[in-house]
Amino acid sequence: MKEQIIAANKAANTVSGQNNRSDYRLVFDKGMQIFAEGDNRDHVYIVEQGEVELSTEVEGEKLPLVTLGPGEIFGEMALMGPGKRSASAYAAEQTELFIIPRDLIMGRLHGVDPLIGLLMSLLIDRYRDTRHQSINEALGRRDVPHFSPLDKGGHDTPFVKDWRAQKEVALKELKLAQEIQVAIERSEFVPFIQPIVTLPDEKLVGFESLIRWEHPERGLVPPFEFIPVAERTNCVQALDMLMLRHACELAPKINEAMGNPEKPVFISVNLSGVHFEKKDVVDEIRSIIKDTKVNPAFIKLEITESALVNEPMVAEKALTELKKLGVRIALDDFGTGYSSLGYLHTFSIDTIKIDRSFVQHIHSDPKSLNIVRAIVGLSKTFDLDIIAEGIESKDEIGVLNGIGCDMGQGYHFSRPMPVDDAFEFIKNR
Ligand code: C2E
Ligand code: CA
Ligand code: CA
Repeated sequence: MKEQIIAANKAANTVSGQNNRSDYRLVFDKGMQIFAEGDNRDHVYIVEQGEVELSTEVEGEKLPLVTLGPGEIFGEMALMGPGKRSASAYAAEQTELFIIPRDLIMGRLHGVDPLIGLLMSLLIDRYRDTRHQSINEALGRRDVPHFSPLDKGGHDTPFVKDWRAQKEVALKELKLAQEIQVAIERSEFVPFIQPIVTLPDEKLVGFESLIRWEHPERGLVPPFEFIPVAERTNCVQALDMLMLRHACELAPKINEAMGNPEKPVFISVNLSGVHFEKKDVVDEIRSIIKDTKVNPAFIKLEITESALVNEPMVAEKALTELKKLGVRIALDDFGTGYSSLGYLHTFSIDTIKIDRSFVQHIHSDPKSLNIVRAIVGLSKTFDLDIIAEGIESKDEIGVLNGIGCDMGQGYHFSRPMPVDDAFEFIKNR
């Protein structure tokens, strides 16, 4: 029988990567061991026919845990930690099993959401701990062994290390998501604003709102440290709507400070690309504009190309609705993503923002120059405004003026600043 087991296990261990359907099925005769306590957890099993008994060994005695029939899954803890089997499985009669390699499921799970993977793994670990504890308690054993998903005692395989690292990242993310929620309630998120000027005469025409986290311990936290996490954990909409509300309240004051110019000075607000997958974002924007009674001509919404790519029909509908509100739309980071003329033609866009990566090489790299020249030409064809981002030097301005770029933004004019400083900035111009 031992040879049969070895053959069966060998087959089970070779299932991954093979397409032949029969390789995923194994038949075990009555009494054969499917896996033993202490084996590696590398497969998950589904009972197709027959019966499987799971048992654990307590002080040399076999203690049955459960008997499973067709349609039931076992070995599912393999989905989680890479540790060892905590029970043995036997065929209680002739049994056919469908075998799924652990890696296959793990790949899918992590592809969907690492956080969900982590939470599932913690839950299953907890469940397993509880199961073992109750067995031990029922047997009156005091020395309850603690089962961990990880090999302890310095015997970490690279796989275990990897799993541990993933767990650490996911836990950090989970904590950060919670911190963001609390920080919203404590009003720790504030906008900084950065001027946008016309070229070549450098007249102030607008500001971009850029979120900052005034963290009580960490100081001023830049967006790249929390926006991606906020996007993955569903709290970015709250942040963006907060910034929109700020902008709507600020814009009339800015325009007043500017002496109510003929052409409204706008404030641009960044909208994360994940919004358009949600139905209610347009409604929320509409209600903020209504609530604050802002002149919608003061507000511009910046979206990235990726927001349009994932669900173009949904995005198109949303943009049309937004335009009806009277706000303007800018396509941010143009040239970095999936740039296509199709977007400019199909979507209701007013402004293109050329990404900093092209602008910063514009006077040294002919390729960048050609790209920017082409984008500027394109914007004229489609009658769009164009803003060059990340201008840091006079040289760059010279080149941009030469090719007819309308507007610019960058450290050369001003870094993003707290709202109060912006009023000083306006006064001093
Ligand atoms: P972005 O929308 O492309 O914003 C421009 C970024 O370039 C800003 O970084 C700005 O500070 C920086 N910048 C401006 N001029 C220069 C320059 O001359 N040189 C250099 N090196 N950098 C310059 P920041 O504020 O760190 O924001 C980074 C990104 O975070 C933004 O890129 C945007 O994608 C995102 N973000 C910022 N605020 C929000 C927000 O309220 N909501 C969402 N969803 N995303 C935001
Ligand atoms: Ca932007
Ligand atoms: Ca940008």
